[in-house]
Amino acid sequence: MRVGVPREVTPGEKRVPLVADSVKRLASKKIDVSIESGAGTGSCITDEEFRAGGASVEPESSALYASADVVLRLRVPNEESIARLREGSTLIAPLFPLQEQNAPLVRALAARKVTTIAVDMIPRTTVAQMMDVLSSQATIAGYYAVLMASAALPRFFPMLMTAAGTIAPARVLVLGAGVAGLQAIGTAKRLGAVVEAFDVRAVVKEQVESLGARFVQVESGEDAQAEGGYAKETSEEYKKKQAEAIARHVKTADVVIATALIPGKRAPVLVTEEMVQSMKPGSVIVDLAAEQQGNCALTEPGQTVVRHGVSILGELDLPSRVAIHASQMYARNMEKLLLHVCNKDGALHLDPENEITRGCLITVAGDVVHPKVKERL
Ligand code: NAD
Repeated sequence: MRVGVPREVTPGEKRVPLVADSVKRLASKKIDVSIESGAGTGSCITDEEFRAGGASVEPESSALYASADVVLRLRVPNEESIARLREGSTLIAPLFPLQEQNAPLVRALAARKVTTIAVDMIPRTTVAQMMDVLSSQATIAGYYAVLMASAALPRFFPMLMTAAGTIAPARVLVLGAGVAGLQAIGTAKRLGAVVEAFDVRAVVKEQVESLGARFVQVESGEDAQAEGGYAKETSEEYKKKQAEAIARHVKTADVVIATALIPGKRAPVLVTEEMVQSMKPGSVIVDLAAEQQGNCALTEPGQTVVRHGVSILGELDLPSRVAIHASQMYARNMEKLLLHVCNKDGALHLDPENEITRGCLITVAGDVVHPKVKERL
């Protein structure tokens, strides 16, 4: 089987879905790789390194699309890249097929008569952990969000006792303690900040505290943990109590790192304009939920804006800013996924009875096969 890796076309994207070491390991399992020349440049991987790993380097993407049985991407494909897929080939990419705005994308992939695997739909189970791109890339985003906040904040993070006076540590509030949030907590603690965190899932309290942060409690008796460990929507009464608690803690925070998401839905608005107004001038909000319209009412996805003296960072490309490791981790996820969906002869073998395959298989040769996706079309 041949896997094709075209150069990413999204402006500013520096990652690449396979690195030279993974190409070598895949070759030993009878999976060949073609890569478009320059695809690794943003991650500091040369064509030569890919060649040395056993990849064939194509100067043009057209040859690559023509020969690939499987195409790997790390961004949601646009119309043009869908049109380039060979009928009968397989696309492995993030698709977010349950989001309403992506219904036309699923229809376009079906019309192109391709098989698609949505990497964002890989079940969040222990056995699938090694293929989980949401986790690997959220780890990077959580880490980098704190670095961005520290660079934008006109204060120190750690407490300092100097001859020029004592500096109080920065206060960081993390909203949402999933993979990104926990990484943000750890990074902010390492930089010396005083960290508080909030999540609707009561189960994460222990994890937050084990990282040395304080868990912000909402007294209600309600727990919003849903199937698969994800969050579900909470009652109106809970939302009111939660808003009151968040307002109190946002007011005293120098930095808010917002990471709260609900799968397939708009991100919950947790920080209102009034709360932003209550913050000290110079404070910083990094909104990792910007891709799903943001946890802060004033976030502008893809932009940094200053509102009421507070910098609100809604950048969407955080993993790409740590491109070498982001690519390395993404590639490891892809390698495990490819080995999972191929037989020992290196040929694609999609078993609809397998839990992981069933969870992320969206179309097969043009037919939409995922029941939940089908339901929403
Ligand atoms: P996510 O990105 O979907 O959401 C981030 C966090 O926001 C979650 O912790 C969620 O509870 C929280 N959140 C949602 N609405 C909120 C609100 N209104 N207020 C505050 N917080 C809110 O989450 P994730 O990081 O992708 O993790 C989701 C689940 O999957 C977790 O239970 C995690 O432990 C689990 N997980 C399992 C594996 C695995 O075993 N393979 C890997 C990664 C994650």
